[in-house]
Amino acid sequence: MTSAVLPAVAEQLFRDIHNIYQETSQIPDDLLIALTFVFGQCAVQALDLVDQHSVTCLSSPSGRKAFQVTGGSGRLYTCFTSCHYCPCPAFAYMVLRRNKGLLCKHILAVYLCEAMGVTHMQSVPDQQMTVLLSGTSPP
Ligand SMILES: [Zn+2]
Repeated sequence: MTSAVLPAVAEQLFRDIHNIYQETSQIPDDLLIALTFVFGQCAVQALDLVDQHSVTCLSSPSGRKAFQVTGGSGRLYTCFTSCHYCPCPAFAYMVLRRNKGLLCKHILAVYLCEAMGVTHMQSVPDQQMTVLLSGTSPP
């Protein structure tokens, strides 16, 4: 789970969460505080999404992977951590104004789920994956 987009401090955080969560099934307070420090309010919202089991990892036989995150409004967002993309308005806003944040709550929720090993996995046919991959542009 490496990404050129995330700062080293964030990657280290996900690694720590991964190691500690495997042993204790909990994220200790100091890591929660660190998360909030790095990601701001986004971290709290992302943890909510994780709690609500909102993240599903779709994988196809050819090995492609996408994540579907159900947002607070019930809308389904298809995120790609590989290219660091989410179709939500917050993400578009942050890409335009990069100093506002590192990523949106959906992508952060995906990273957290992956770190905690609680992502719900689902296999989809290649055909469906192709539809997902081509349907990602914002309206
Ligand atoms: Zn998003």
